[in-house]
Order: sequence, then structure tokens, then C-alpha cells
Amino acid sequence: MYDIVIIGSGIVGSVTAIALAQNTALNIAILDINPITLKKNKILTHRFSALSHASKNILKNIHIWDEIPCEYISVFNNMEVWDKEGQGKLHFDSQSVQESALGYIVEDDVIRQKLWENLRHLNIDMIAPIQLIDMQKKMDYLELITSDARVIKTRLLIGADGANSWVRKTADILLSTRDYQHTAIIATVQTELPHEMTAWQCFSDLGILAFLPLKDLHTCSIVWSVKPMDANNLLLLEPDVFQEKLADAFMNRLGKVTLLSPRYDFKLTMRHAKQYVKDSIALIGDAAHTIHPLAGLGVNMGLLDAAALVEVIMTALQKNRRIDSFATLRRYERMRKGDTQMMLGFVEGIKELFASHHPSLRMLRNSGLNWVEKVAFLKKFFIRYAIWPKLR
Ligand SMILES: Cc1cc2nc3c(=O)[nH]c(=O)nc-3n(C[C@H](O)[C@H](O)[C@H](O)COP(=O)(O)OP(=O)(O)OC[C@H]3O[C@@H](n4cnc5c(N)ncnc54)[C@H](O)[C@@H]3O)c2cc1C
Repeated sequence: MYDIVIIGSGIVGSVTAIALAQNTALNIAILDINPITLKKNKILTHRFSALSHASKNILKNIHIWDEIPCEYISVFNNMEVWDKEGQGKLHFDSQSVQESALGYIVEDDVIRQKLWENLRHLNIDMIAPIQLIDMQKKMDYLELITSDARVIKTRLLIGADGANSWVRKTADILLSTRDYQHTAIIATVQTELPHEMTAWQCFSDLGILAFLPLKDLHTCSIVWSVKPMDANNLLLLEPDVFQEKLADAFMNRLGKVTLLSPRYDFKLTMRHAKQYVKDSIALIGDAAHTIHPLAGLGVNMGLLDAAALVEVIMTALQKNRRIDSFATLRRYERMRKGDTQMMLGFVEGIKELFASHHPSLRMLRNSGLNWVEKVAFLKKFFIRYAIWPKLR
């Protein structure tokens, strides 16, 4: 019998497993439907995430951040946001808030590989690949049934199994969903002009286009969120035509753009679990919520879930309370659900405001951007909130 079983060895599930193993004597297992294999050579997957200072600190506290070679971490000090269809623009820089960086861009796979290396050295059972087919609630534990008829028992189950969470579905936890009507195209590109360690984001009638600066001063990861039909058309274009469209959509701010990778696409859906906790189960990361990538929040929010859940479990242990009781788990839900709801609403508002072709909304968003740009304390507030989101 395990004290805790974590389903999903993505960034959020692995961080939770490591933090729990480092800080408690609990008997822990982590399960994944896919193999948890360490790669000998680095394979570029072209999936990058913008990480906040809070996320860096969570990774630092479990001794992962300092293990990531600095050639894989790119720092950005500036952020440029503008509306292609108007005059609105906003510039953020780290100096104005006395920080050395606004955030960090790291390839997801680099973080995951470091986490998996560390999982191996801790007292954690790694069971993968494994297919779960059923879950049954017993008096004071849960039984997980696998496709090869194994039965795994646990007191607490943590669902970190991503957007289409098996745990969430099997526990009958309801979900609010909304189709963002956007597909994100991601790719790695070379730019004619240096990116100046700046994260660039351009809003236009076509959609939202971000250029995230990578270590090489002429290389960026792009996230281009457009309507699904436009995405299909863009994906079908020959690379040289796509490159021209991309540079044009970006108003040639970084000159000529050349693809360095294939183009990948992700359909974007907002999901929010109606409950984060139920019957000795807690959901974290994408299993609990998914958000439009326009503000680069997904992993950052998931890591805050992980930190909050570990905190309530450690407090329960210190106070000799059950780690799987509803009262314990509900504390975690209270710490995270309201904040997440607020971020989902904020991102939805931004997305809708910039999707609108209505002249008055267009005027509103342009004057809004310029207003924030001019009011120093408001600007500082936005920067601080973006780079230092906190647990409440
Ligand atoms: C285009 C795009 C750009 C993004 N950019 C950013 C960004 O800049 N910054 C940011 O913070 N976030 C970003 N995100 C969001 C971020 O990628 C996700 O929020 C994050 O990867 C979620 O991590 P996770 O560990 O919760 O889930 P996942 O990474 O999805 O991991 C889930 C794990 O569960 C396993 N699993 C799934 N089903 C089962 C099952 N039935 N049984 C067992 N195991 C299972 C999977 O194999 C996987 O290992 C972006 C997302 C997209 C689509």
C-alpha cells in the first residue's frame, strides 16, 4: 500500500513527487502511461515554456534549477506587446522592478529529463508504461486496477495526468470547458536581427503571435495562435511562403525569419475542473485547468498547484492529521482554485478584447495598452504580478 500515488510524470507530477520524497518519509509511487526514459543525447522537441521567478524558485527548492545547464536557460529582460491594428503598445523591463530578469525560457523536455534523473535517486517507485483501467474507493484507501490485472493501493491519489486526465474522468469530476477557437502553431525560427533578450507579443486581426527569445541571439520559439481554419491554411503553406507571412504578421520587427524546425499545432481549449479534490483524490496542473498560452501561464500555474499541495500535505503530517482527508485536501483547493479562476477570466478577457474587430473595442484596447504604459505604478503592478505570482 502506498501513501501517495501520482498519476502522470510530466513537469507538474514529477515536481510534486520529488518535493514530497525530499520532505517526507511517505511511501510514494509515480505512474505514467508512457515510458519514463532518459535520453542519452538531447533531442530538440521545440516545446518551450516561459517560466516565472516563482516557478524558478520551486525548481530551485527541490535542487533542480541549478542542475539545468545554463546553455539551456534563456533569460529575458524585456517584454514588448503591441497591437498591429492600432497605436497601442506596452514595454516592460526588469530594471524598472529591480529584478535581473522578467522570466526564463526553457525547453520542457530539458526540465522533464532533469526531473526524471532525480526521481531515480529518490525513494519513489516509478511504474511506467502502465495502463490504468479502473479505480475503486475502499473504506480508507483507493484501488487502481491496471490492464495487466495488477492492483495498486494508495491512501491518496494525485492526478497530474494532463489535459485529458484519466483520473478526473474516472472520478466523475465535472469540467467547465470553452473552445478558445484558436489553434497554436509552434516552431523554432532564426531571425535576421537579434532578439535583444526580449519576449515579443503582437496582437492582430489574424491572431496572437509571440516570439520567445532562446539562448542564441538570433533564435526564437514562436507561438502563433490563430483561428483553426487559418491555422490549417498556414500549416499547408510552403516553408518560404509561411516564413514571409510570419515576418509580415510580426511587422518585420526582427527582419527576415527562417524556420529551423517543423511546424507543430495544438488546439486550444479552456478547461477548469469544478472540483480539485474528491474522495482522497487531488488534481493538479493541466488535469485541473488548461489556459490559452498567450500569457505563458500553464506550467507556472501547475507548479503553484504542486507547491500548495505539498505544503498542505506537510502541514497535515506535522499536525498528525490524515493526508487524504477532505479537510486537508480542501485547504489545497481553497489555496488554488480562486486564483486560477481569476487568471482564466483575465486571459479570456484579453483574448476576446483583441479578437474583436469592433471599432470601439479596438480603441479601448489601444488606449488601455497606452494607459498602462504611462501609469508607472500600474505597470509595476502588472510586472510584479506576472513574474512573482504567489500562493495565497
Ligand atoms: C502551444 C503551447 C504553449 C505553451 N506555452 C507555455 C508557456 O510559455 N509557459 C507555461 O507556463 N505554460 C505553457 N503552456 C502550457 C504547458 O505546456 C502545460 O500547462 C504543461 O505542460 C502541463 O504540465 P502537466 O505536467 O500538468 O501535464 P503534461 O505535461 O500533459 O503531463 C501529463 C503526464 O501524464 C501522463 N498521462 C496522461 N494520461 C495518462 C494516463 N491515463 N495514465 C497515466 N499517465 C498518463 C502523460 O504521459 C504525461 O507524462 C503551453 C501550452 C501550449 C499548448
